[in-house]
Amino acid sequence: MSEVFFLDYSKEVDVLPGIEGLCAQSGILKGISKGDSVAVKVHMGELGNVTYIRPAFLRKVVDLVKKRGAKPFVTDTVTLYPGARSNKKRYLSTAAYNGFVKESVGAPIVIADGDGDEGTPVALEDVVGRCDLREVEVASGIYDADFLLVLSHVKGHMITGFGGAVKNLGMGCVAKRSKREQHRANPPLLDDSKCDGCEGCLEVCPVDALSMRGGRPQRDPEKCIYCGTCLFACSRKALYWERKNKERFQVYLAHAAAAVVRGFGHRIGFVNFVQDVTPHCDCAAPAGRVLFPDIGILASTDPVGLDKASLDLIDRARMIGVTKPISGPDKLGKWHQVDSLVQLRTAQELGMGSMDYILSNL
Ligand code: SF4
Ligand code: SF4
Repeated sequence: MSEVFFLDYSKEVDVLPGIEGLCAQSGILKGISKGDSVAVKVHMGELGNVTYIRPAFLRKVVDLVKKRGAKPFVTDTVTLYPGARSNKKRYLSTAAYNGFVKESVGAPIVIADGDGDEGTPVALEDVVGRCDLREVEVASGIYDADFLLVLSHVKGHMITGFGGAVKNLGMGCVAKRSKREQHRANPPLLDDSKCDGCEGCLEVCPVDALSMRGGRPQRDPEKCIYCGTCLFACSRKALYWERKNKERFQVYLAHAAAAVVRGFGHRIGFVNFVQDVTPHCDCAAPAGRVLFPDIGILASTDPVGLDKASLDLIDRARMIGVTKPISGPDKLGKWHQVDSLVQLRTAQELGMGSMDYILSNL
């Protein structure tokens, strides 16, 4: 059974001191020694997204790490899809626009996989379910750190139902090649009846993986990087992701997360921010209106228990701004027509943690 600690926003807490209390009580910083390099992993938001974790929260954690005599750096990896975070230069510029600079967060900002090609291969020890990954390229800047702190914004996600700590590990801490390999489990499929052959998808594909055959787009699986750009560009919604593939993708995601965690042993801690719970993730701009009142911040050394506790709190919360509220369990998964617990069950099976937890209020 895992232990999860909860700073409950309904108790009118002072948030910054609350984060300090949360870190102290959960013991997530305990393993940090003087001189350690500490990777503080956070998603710094797509250009136009406004619901990512606030830099001030990050600053508080960075200051606590420094108090232990360690050397923190704030980090993330570049995106698979073309956009404002697709290489190191663009990401640093977007991070600055969103308020993440050394002066605000109190530590250098390091793009851990450079332009997406700086990864350290880690062989997968265990494989469960339908997963053909055998190796994961962990972003080298993260792999080389002495300690990893994973700060995650919990929100909805079109493929995985929700994104939290496991998603931040499995997708957020790996180099481009491993992002592509995970997305390969969930290719965009064509609904022939909706396609009018407009070729709009061909125009946006960054790697020319699409060509027309018989008036319909055909995807070359060898060229495709599975970025989903064509799917979002199709105004007729003729491209779609299949539910069973979205769930298979989560199996891959959990394996990648396990590979990241393996290098750190107990030298790892997690904080989940359950606020600004939008339907879409921090890669989306816009990410949609928030679906729940802000809930609070949770911390644990177990990413599986932490994510499950976050989801349970969301399930217990009242939905806002919707005409037909969804009932639990797995409200975010139902919103996106997927079982979002697949990632947690797989992570549990891989020994990353336990979905059974005790929630301790601060
Ligand atoms: S953009 Fe959509 S409708 Fe147009 S060719 Fe591509 S799949 Fe068909
Ligand atoms: S075919 Fe679609 S998913 Fe594949 S690379 Fe092109 S835009 Fe991305």
